[in-house]
Amino acid sequence: MAPTLNFDRLRSILVATVSHLPDRRTRPNRIYELADAALGAFAVFFVQSPSFLAHQRDMQRSRGQNNAQSLFGLEQVPSDPQIRNLLDPIPPEQLAPPFWRVFEQLRDGDYLKAYQGHLGLWLCALDGTQYFSSQQIHCAQCTTRVVNERTYYAHTLVAPLIVAPGEHRVIALEPEFVRPQDGNEKQDCELRAAERWLQRNASRFPAGALTLLGDDLYCHQPFCELVLARHCHFAFTCKPDSHPALYQEIDLLTKAGGVSEVSQRHWNGQRYEIWRYRYALRVPLRADTKPLYVNWCEVTITNEATGELLYRNAWATDHALTESGLHDFVVAARTRWKSENENNNVLKNYGYHLEHNFGHGQQYLAMVLIMLNLLAFLFHTTLDLCDEEYRRVRTELVARQTFFHDVQALTRYLYFDSWQALINFMFTRLELDTDSPSPPRKRTKRR
Ligand SMILES: [Zn+2]
Repeated sequence: MAPTLNFDRLRSILVATVSHLPDRRTRPNRIYELADAALGAFAVFFVQSPSFLAHQRDMQRSRGQNNAQSLFGLEQVPSDPQIRNLLDPIPPEQLAPPFWRVFEQLRDGDYLKAYQGHLGLWLCALDGTQYFSSQQIHCAQCTTRVVNERTYYAHTLVAPLIVAPGEHRVIALEPEFVRPQDGNEKQDCELRAAERWLQRNASRFPAGALTLLGDDLYCHQPFCELVLARHCHFAFTCKPDSHPALYQEIDLLTKAGGVSEVSQRHWNGQRYEIWRYRYALRVPLRADTKPLYVNWCEVTITNEATGELLYRNAWATDHALTESGLHDFVVAARTRWKSENENNNVLKNYGYHLEHNFGHGQQYLAMVLIMLNLLAFLFHTTLDLCDEEYRRVRTELVARQTFFHDVQALTRYLYFDSWQALINFMFTRLELDTDSPSPPRKRTKRR
């Protein structure tokens, strides 16, 4: 039986990694400070407050104790420039293990039931996101683009997310960065980054258990072949513009009656929708002497009452398509669209602006910080899945902003022995009845 995944357990997973980060400095007492720098940056992302560490230094001076220590396990609270200097030389892949430890513990603790059993077992959405761009600020790991004699610097990553239909929470897995590759003159790109991720991580999953979801960019024969070679499945958006040979074949098959058409009526909770499917088996992904043969499915969803077009998309997949399985396939394949929005939330709205605290760095800092930010996001998701008290507090303080606002204010003025003590304080003060497991009633005027 896996240990309960509470905040202290999560923190110990993080501490196990940050206590062993490679430290190239020669001063004594060095491991310690490096761990404090990583935990300090993590804490800033976790509470979503750029001034969290400054407030805790103030509290330490006035009261001899502070929340950075009690909640996050820092020995000493480093300053922002110290954090920048300490974390800049750390290769970001050093922070990968906690992603996998958390995923394994969620899986083994049976917290991921809702995520299992879709198109095999797991759905993993691949989404590339550019999370930094500038014309001035740059580092050794930036990718560069020259347009009209101007150089643009950027950071992009592929964030693989375990997703499930109807499940708003996504489980962040170890990301892969688009970055200059040793010994490769060509600019790196999202597709090559996804290839590296797959080469490195596919074997973590049982054969056939993982279905990768992605946009048209991934629907590329060499990548699909790699997915199959690594014993995974795929369901990638497949657009006519980028797959002329496949759509030529679909046109020919349509005339010859080789494309099956199915229409279904579905109640979406508010209105009836008409789902029209067209699908074909074994069509060539590209014009080639050795094309990869894929199954193809298109769906058009309209409002039954008005005829309004609500959604249209098409996918290429190696999964077998049958009439009875079309709905489940499309629902699963569409999950990617949702995850894209969630992911944008993670990187754009979930406090990545906090990098301004620490700056961009010269070596790896920009990547190390986003690893810590993604871990903070993963920890919050995990608590939401595993910790009833946390979930009740979050539900009560519906808007994300309010939850963090309260956490920031409380940790600024009050000292808590542990994260659990803080959540417990909020839980009690919000008068959330411990005897009633149902979601609390909606309050008015609760910020
Ligand atoms: Zn950079």
